[in-house]
Amino acid sequence: MKRFDLLVIGGGSGGLAAARRAAGYGASVALVESGRLGGTCVNVGCVPKKVMWNASVLAEQLRDAADYGFGVAPAELDFPTLVEKRNAYVARLNEIYARNLAEAGVEHIRGFARFHSPHVVSVDAESVGADHVVIATGGRPRVPDLPGAEHGITSDGFFELTRRPDRVAIVGAGYIAVELAGMLRSLGAQVTLILRGEHLLKAFDSLIRDALMEELSHAGISIVPCAELERIEPAADGSLRLIGGGGLGFEGIDCLLWATGRAPATTNLGLELTGVALDDDGHVVADEWQNTNIERVYAIGDVTGKVQLTPVAIAAGRQLADRIFGGQPTAKLDYRNVPTVVFSHPPIGAVGLTESEARELYGQDGVKVYTTTFRNMYHALTERRPKTCMKLVTAGPKERVVGIHVIGLGADEMLQGFAVALKLGATKADLDATVAIHPTAAEELVTMR
Ligand code: FAD
Ligand code: NDP
Repeated sequence: MKRFDLLVIGGGSGGLAAARRAAGYGASVALVESGRLGGTCVNVGCVPKKVMWNASVLAEQLRDAADYGFGVAPAELDFPTLVEKRNAYVARLNEIYARNLAEAGVEHIRGFARFHSPHVVSVDAESVGADHVVIATGGRPRVPDLPGAEHGITSDGFFELTRRPDRVAIVGAGYIAVELAGMLRSLGAQVTLILRGEHLLKAFDSLIRDALMEELSHAGISIVPCAELERIEPAADGSLRLIGGGGLGFEGIDCLLWATGRAPATTNLGLELTGVALDDDGHVVADEWQNTNIERVYAIGDVTGKVQLTPVAIAAGRQLADRIFGGQPTAKLDYRNVPTVVFSHPPIGAVGLTESEARELYGQDGVKVYTTTFRNMYHALTERRPKTCMKLVTAGPKERVVGIHVIGLGADEMLQGFAVALKLGATKADLDATVAIHPTAAEELVTMR
């Protein structure tokens, strides 16, 4: 049996980061991956999604160009070309990840890992043992258990589309529902967004939620709140009929997309042979040090169910390797104030507490909020007029900034620097003392009254 200092199960964002960092400290490391290196983010997540978002932003800008006086004929997107170029880019990244692993001296084992015992796994016929094992198996899309649900696709299927669907129904109200709805609409599809609750992105600040709802509606997306589907039926013409309670029905849908959350990849892993504890949803329970309840078995990234973002999985993996192999016994990820961007139309950036979270924590009188709503100067000449909304949430007599929330053009690139300021404990007075950069949208964050 081959033995290593560290065995990482899963070659996604978290697993790759942990493996390479540990190898950098001189540990002998193996990484098992059953699919393509890079995991969800590179193959069916952030990367191909951002390519599609870029394409959909370009589609909007091509339409705006006429408003700026350009003589632009309506541009037709050659969808198969976009898909081919996107897939080629992802394939290049797969190769780069393989090369990086090899250069770091990590042994890449191809196959599906199953535990025999806490520190021994089998991959096909091979057994591999290690002193330390990291579970970084991520997750996969979850589909509701409804008659006919199999007629729909998930975000994985979205990346397999070779033509743009015309009439799309998306079920869900989270990141993926909002992002794919916006992209498909900008690329010319008719989109219906079906939510079981009242709000999109329910964990976000109310200012953002309400503005997003308004902007998606203005863009022509039909939003159907408080709606629950009961069954899906194929119609004679090949389209789908979606049927729900209280007379709810949608006809003529040529693509149904389930964006109803993700389930952890903890089935078939042999975890029952290890004693590793799972929560009710099947996530591996990991403490703030990424330790599971079994000694020298750790979990990082989406499989733990905590803040499911690529940079979080990467940071958790690196901190863990720093702690185990890098002589840094106190290294661990701080899960507070993780900035996040939703690549909606327009994009959203947020960091820290929402207004209601802050009021719960600091009391009604302990919180002061600053908001502004305006049109980005870019839209002064365009027919479409999406709004930009911003909110600063401050707490205590010094008005420490505890939350920053932005929706609007450029929000995606704006937040990173402001997140540093928030993390360092900036106050409203610190923002006021920073000279604005003019004319930008970001300057509004340092000039709010
Ligand atoms: P994964 O990246 O899922 O990697 C897990 C790997 O483990 C997979 O490659 C899998 O094949 C492998 N595996 C599983 N079981 C086994 C086994 N038994 N043996 C061997 N290998 C196994 N995050 C952002 O920060 N920004 C974004 O813009 C963003 N966009 C997203 C868009 C979509 C459509 C989706 C679905 C997700 C997006 N995310 C985004 C989230 C991000 O992709 C995840 O948070 C991140 O990939 C989690 O990394 P991970 O290492 O925990 O798991
Ligand atoms: P989310 O957790 O964001 O949203 C899941 C949505 O599914 C919720 O709106 C939920 O509704 C809805 N839902 C769940 N079950 C049902 C059901 N049976 N019927 C109808 N609706 C249902 O998950 P996503 O899958 O959108 O994304 C997974 C994670 O991946 C995100 O949380 C995020 O961490 C990450 N991600 C990050 C991105 C980024 O950084 N830009 C982009 C994409 C994904 P309700 O609101 O009522 O609970």
